[in-house]
Amino acid sequence: MTLFERKKQLRKEMRCRRKELTDLLKAYKDAAITKKLLALDKVRNASVVLPFVSTNDEVDTAEFIYNCFKLGKTVAVPRCIDDTNMEFCVIDSFDDIEEGMYGIYEPKKHCNVIEAENIIDSVLIVPGLCFNSEGFRLGYGKGYYDRFISRYKGYCVGICYKEFLTDDIPTDEYDRPVDMVITDR
Ligand code: ADP
Ligand code: MG
Repeated sequence: MTLFERKKQLRKEMRCRRKELTDLLKAYKDAAITKKLLALDKVRNASVVLPFVSTNDEVDTAEFIYNCFKLGKTVAVPRCIDDTNMEFCVIDSFDDIEEGMYGIYEPKKHCNVIEAENIIDSVLIVPGLCFNSEGFRLGYGKGYYDRFISRYKGYCVGICYKEFLTDDIPTDEYDRPVDMVITDR
């Protein structure tokens, strides 16, 4: 199997496994991850946070985002600008996001793009189907985060459920690791 095929196979497997989580257990795990994220020094000290807006099966980031608003942090969330790149735009409340392509919530048109690449004092929250102990991840297969992280100078935190930590992740030259991975346990 080629590396591309191995990644594809693993994506399929992980997507299925994630769907097996019951709503109740998922909510419990989401709360645990949110709590751990908010307790991180890197997050507490950051003036800018760059979370993703979660979709159904992903680790739920809503409570984290809500708390960042309350703490007075600048919150910027991603918008895909083409097939390969994304940009982060500042949102002041949940009213600033709307459903975009593929049902993914993104910042509304009026939201200002933030030059995240130049902000050292920031934390990027990275989604992933699974991560390994070195912080390498398997995403959905478009490489958006690999491209962004290669330009980004702030701190990167990957989040996933404990069962999705695995050492068996195929990586290529473009894959970029996160600085740390937070799980529910
Ligand atoms: P994901 O990280 O979403 O799981 P992949 O790692 O499989 O997806 O990356 C998707 C594609 O994007 C791959 O063909 C990869 O080589 C390419 N890619 C990722 N980052 C870059 C980059 N910085 N420059 C060029 N191509 C890249
Ligand atoms: Mg990758």
